[in-house]
Amino acid sequence: MREEGTVISGERAVLTVQDFSKSFGEVVALDQISLSIEAGEIVVLCGPSGAGKSTLLYMVAGLLPPDSGTVTLAGIHPYELSGSERTLLRGREIGMVFQDARLLSYLDIEANILAGGGSSDRAGELIEELGLADRRNHVPKKLSAGEQQRVGLARALVANPKLLLADEPTGNLDQGSTDLVLAGLKKYVSGGGAALVVTHDPQVIKMADRVLTLEKGILQG
Ligand code: ADP
Repeated sequence: MREEGTVISGERAVLTVQDFSKSFGEVVALDQISLSIEAGEIVVLCGPSGAGKSTLLYMVAGLLPPDSGTVTLAGIHPYELSGSERTLLRGREIGMVFQDARLLSYLDIEANILAGGGSSDRAGELIEELGLADRRNHVPKKLSAGEQQRVGLARALVANPKLLLADEPTGNLDQGSTDLVLAGLKKYVSGGGAALVVTHDPQVIKMADRVLTLEKGILQG
């Protein structure tokens, strides 16, 4: 285990964040954050509500420019690109999972997964892996919350992104779905992916390579 918050700029660093700061008016949401994540790692980010976790995820995803500091994703600085180039970079290199799966109600499961890009072969693999084979042609409203979340994970992974950003991916899931989501996460990083996961779930924390804690916009440790 490396020291928390250590910055690596070696070839394996998928994500490097350096001196990242963001304020909303008087509120300092992130204060000089530096961290890096390499291929094969699951890094958990925890901290109380209002600590800046979502702000960090959005900034890493290229959705919210920092006031100062840099982010390097797969060797590229997203905020030096145009908005449309940044969107393409995000589509290619980042998968995102939210607490609610945010599926498209009018598409079946397979089409929802393919909305993340990628090939039908890869979608088929993920459908099997995440235990969704008998749900392939169902629409989301026929699925349990746990099944919907597994579809959300498959959609995030179908284009083989270098980085997965997840916000409470196991929040409110039954144990069966939690096990499948955790196994999917593990397989993704063992295949060379990297994951930054906001969670307080002890089961995710247990499998993390590192746990970072944010408090009032400052990375502890
Ligand atoms: P967390 O995800 O850890 O709960 P957030 O990143 O959502 O924390 O928020 C960090 C701080 O920034 C909070 O004080 C929050 O109120 C503030 N904040 C976040 N987004 C905005 C925004 N768009 N406008 C104003 N304040 C914001």
